[in-house]
Amino acid sequence: MEKSVKQIIAKYNTNQTRLMDILIDTQELQGFIGKEAVSDIADALNMSQADIEQTITFYHFLSTEPRGKFAIYLNDSAVAIMYGQRAIKETFEKEVGIKFGQVTNDGLIGLFNTACIGMNDQEPAAIINNRVFTKLTPYRVREIVRYMREGKNMDELINESYGDGKNHLPSLKSMVSSNIRRKGMILSDSYIYGSVTKNILPGISPEAVIAEIKHSNMRGRGGAGFPTGLKWEFCRRAKGDKHYVICNADEGEPGTFKDRVILTEKPELVFEGMALAGYAIGGDEGILYLRYEYRYMKEYLEDVLAVMRKNNVLGENIAGIEGFTFDIRIQFGAGAYVCGEESALLESLEGKRGEPRDKPPFPVEKGYLNQPTIINNVETFATAVRIIENGGEWFTQFGTEDSTGTKILSISGDCMFPGVYEVNWGFNVEDMLDMVGAYNVQAVQVGGPSGTLIGPDEFHRTLGYSDLSTGGSMIIFNKQRDLLRDVVLNFMEFFIDESCGSCSTCRNMPEVMKNKLVRILNGNGVKSDLTDLKAWGKVLLASRCGLGQTAGNPIISSLKNFRPLYEELLQKEKEFDQGFDLEASVQQSCRYVKRIPKFHLHE
Ligand code: SF4
Repeated sequence: MEKSVKQIIAKYNTNQTRLMDILIDTQELQGFIGKEAVSDIADALNMSQADIEQTITFYHFLSTEPRGKFAIYLNDSAVAIMYGQRAIKETFEKEVGIKFGQVTNDGLIGLFNTACIGMNDQEPAAIINNRVFTKLTPYRVREIVRYMREGKNMDELINESYGDGKNHLPSLKSMVSSNIRRKGMILSDSYIYGSVTKNILPGISPEAVIAEIKHSNMRGRGGAGFPTGLKWEFCRRAKGDKHYVICNADEGEPGTFKDRVILTEKPELVFEGMALAGYAIGGDEGILYLRYEYRYMKEYLEDVLAVMRKNNVLGENIAGIEGFTFDIRIQFGAGAYVCGEESALLESLEGKRGEPRDKPPFPVEKGYLNQPTIINNVETFATAVRIIENGGEWFTQFGTEDSTGTKILSISGDCMFPGVYEVNWGFNVEDMLDMVGAYNVQAVQVGGPSGTLIGPDEFHRTLGYSDLSTGGSMIIFNKQRDLLRDVVLNFMEFFIDESCGSCSTCRNMPEVMKNKLVRILNGNGVKSDLTDLKAWGKVLLASRCGLGQTAGNPIISSLKNFRPLYEELLQKEKEFDQGFDLEASVQQSCRYVKRIPKFHLHE
């Protein structure tokens, strides 16, 4: 075992900044990262064991304790529960004979909960040893557990459940459906791989590429909406030894799965977009930061990169352009929603806990390894290729004035056709509901839990940066759903689990707000509780990053748009809060935060 860990360390050139790769490979080798492995890694990298352990404990999918020969991670997001996750959970517990959070005595099976795994269109779903099992039923669960006990390996398990487990693309698609329901410029079949790199780049300067992207008015598709051309220009101008292009494929917002589909169906488009950005900024290296939940794509994407290298769409002197040398590697996260925040992602890329950095400096000046870096998401890179292929002016005919182009939506929840839809910006929510076959709709969660929960009186609104901004997650709830109990509470628990713990606001306030919500749900709420919730939501705005700043949104947004749901649960005769112990709630919240703040680890 020691030899294998040493081989892993050597594979990554004993490089501290590749600690994430070393830990992930070690975890996959033995199912956990034990004391000996921690000690070996610490010695080799000249780090303390505490430093290694604090990184391991930050990420959901890394563990210092055995997780079982088969580690089963069942998605516990709100939509999974809507689609029958509780029955699946009960069946797993009954068949395996343990509770979630435990491992069988013989070490064969471990059961764990996990946040949204990007499969909301085919729930209930679970990850077992990095392979995804979708549309689970109690019958299928019984089969899976039986196969495990019969000694079958993962390929056999996949074959039994989904067909071919060896051939990468068919296997990928048999396990996970792409569910593309509407195509636009990104998902259309008109893209010819390599055409921009080989036919256009040799005749256009890097500055002209940036000018064309600026002319298109494209804004980043990740949610913040920063103008892409401007970001590329800032980075090109910034001085550094190297320039980096990072693709943020850490789509962790519950309800979003469109990056999974783009990477499955159009990986060349994304990689070509990264190379294009590399050309524009004078970039040396690209890194696809892919969420661990999509580890099952690894071999498939590596194959795609190999073919692109072979065809000189990546590599040295690409398309015969002297000095245009650019390659891409894939770096996996290990399960942490906060790593979708760009500076947390950079920390993770450098082998550390994914704790957001203070800004400025911004990544375009000091990003990966302190060098100028652009970070865009999967959809942004794909869109950039279509812009250079067809021109910035062509692009502006799609969408609206302030939100040009198309947007790919991940639509799930109570509708007949969950899946991925590419629409022009400016699309109206009412039309969207008709398009996906959603009836009797009570609410739509726009932009995931960190976004907005809207009711029918707002369905006339349109998708765009000046109205309803969204990174792509759209979750529909019909009138039978208990919004507060089944949705808002679940979303609050998600933020509590995902806080990195650095800021006291984000570490404590979501738990305190959740406790107040539970008190209301239990029939013990009074009118002043609603005033408190609103005020406490504002406290969260002082948090360092977007996670904390939006962590109160599930309550704040539902309180604003669905206030009667709260009011009908209140005790009518009491006006003011008499029983809520704020101090105890704060104390309790300190115990509940799963990611122990770094300074506590060092105490
Ligand atoms: Fe961490 Fe939350 Fe602060 Fe962001 S807001 S840095 S997630 S504690």
